[in-house]
Amino acid sequence: MSKAKILSGKDTALSVYNELNKRIVLLADKGIRPGLCVILIGDDPASQIYVRTKTKKLKSLGLLSEAIFLSRDVSEKKIIKIINDLNNDTQYHGILVQLPLPDHINSQNIINAINPEKDVDGFHPENAGWLAIGKPRFIPCTPKGIMRILDDYDIDLSGKNIVVIGRSNIVGRPISILTSLNVKGANGTCTICHSRTKNLEHYTMNADVVITAIGIPNYLTGDMIKDEAVIIDVGINRVDADNDKGYQIIGDADWSSVIDKVSAITPVPGGVGPMTIAMLVENTIEAAENFG
Ligand code: NAP
Repeated sequence: MSKAKILSGKDTALSVYNELNKRIVLLADKGIRPGLCVILIGDDPASQIYVRTKTKKLKSLGLLSEAIFLSRDVSEKKIIKIINDLNNDTQYHGILVQLPLPDHINSQNIINAINPEKDVDGFHPENAGWLAIGKPRFIPCTPKGIMRILDDYDIDLSGKNIVVIGRSNIVGRPISILTSLNVKGANGTCTICHSRTKNLEHYTMNADVVITAIGIPNYLTGDMIKDEAVIIDVGINRVDADNDKGYQIIGDADWSSVIDKVSAITPVPGGVGPMTIAMLVENTIEAAENFG
C-alpha cells in the first residue's frame, strides 16, 4: 500500500472557512458585509459551473454575491462600462471576470479596467507587480491556495528544488514567484517549465516538489519524478468514463504510476480546486477589511 500523504484541499479549506467566519463577524460588527460580483461572458459549461460554485459558497457564508451573465457577442466597451459601474458601487468589494473570454475581447483591457483595490483575482498588472516585488496585495487564488495547503501540511519549501510546469499568469507564473519569495514557508529554488522546455524530465527528476498546471491528463508519470517527491496537481481535465455522467475529472499527474513514489500529493478532485474557492472568499474579505 502507498505511504503517500494525501494533501486534502477540502480539509484545509474547512479550517480556512472557520477562520474566515470570525473575520466575517468582526466586519458585521462594523456594519460591513463583504460583497463580490462575478461577470460571466458566454455560455461555456465549465465556466458556468465555476461561477455557480463560487457565488453559492459566498452566499452560504452570508456574503453578498452576485453574478452578471452577458451574451457571447457583448462588446468590450459594454463590459468595461459594467466594470466601471461596479468599481463605483460600494456594496461590492470584489469584482471578478471569469476567464477565458471570447476571442473578440482583449482580456488584458478587461483586467486593466478593474479597480486594483477590488481585483480579488489578483490579475491586475498593479497587483501582479506587488507580488513580483515580494509585497503581495491580492494573490491569485489558485497559487495562494497551493501555498496554504503546503503550510497546512507542514511542507516547508526552504532550500527545496521546485519545478512548476506551466507559465500562465493565473497559476504557473505567480506560484513560481510565491515559492521563491524570501518569506516563511517559501525560499524554494524554483524552475519554471513550459511547452518549449527541452528535456522536461531533466528538471522534474531533480525536483523535491513538482507543481503541474498544464491541463493534459496523466501527463506527469512516475518515471519523471524522484522518490519521495511532492506533487501539487493543479490540472482539471475532463475525460470519458464509464459512469452515470459519462466523464470524470482527473489531474495532470498519472495517479497510478506516481502514487507509490511520492511522499505527498494533492488529489483531483478535492485538492487545489476547493482551496481556489476558499482563497477567493478570503481575498473578498481582505478587500472589505482593507478598502471597505
Ligand atoms: P494555460 O493558460 O493553458 O497554461 C498551460 C501552460 O502549460 C502553458 O504555460 C503551456 O506552455 C504549458 N504546457 C502545455 N503543454 C505543455 C507540455 N507538453 N509540457 C510543458 N508545458 C506545457 O492553463 P492554466 O490556466 O494555467 O491552467 C492549467 C490547468 O490548471 C488546466 O487544467 C486548468 O483547468 C487548471 N486550473 C485549475 C485550477 C484549480 O482551481 N484547480 C485553477 C486554474 C486552472 P506555453 O506557455 O508554452 O504554451
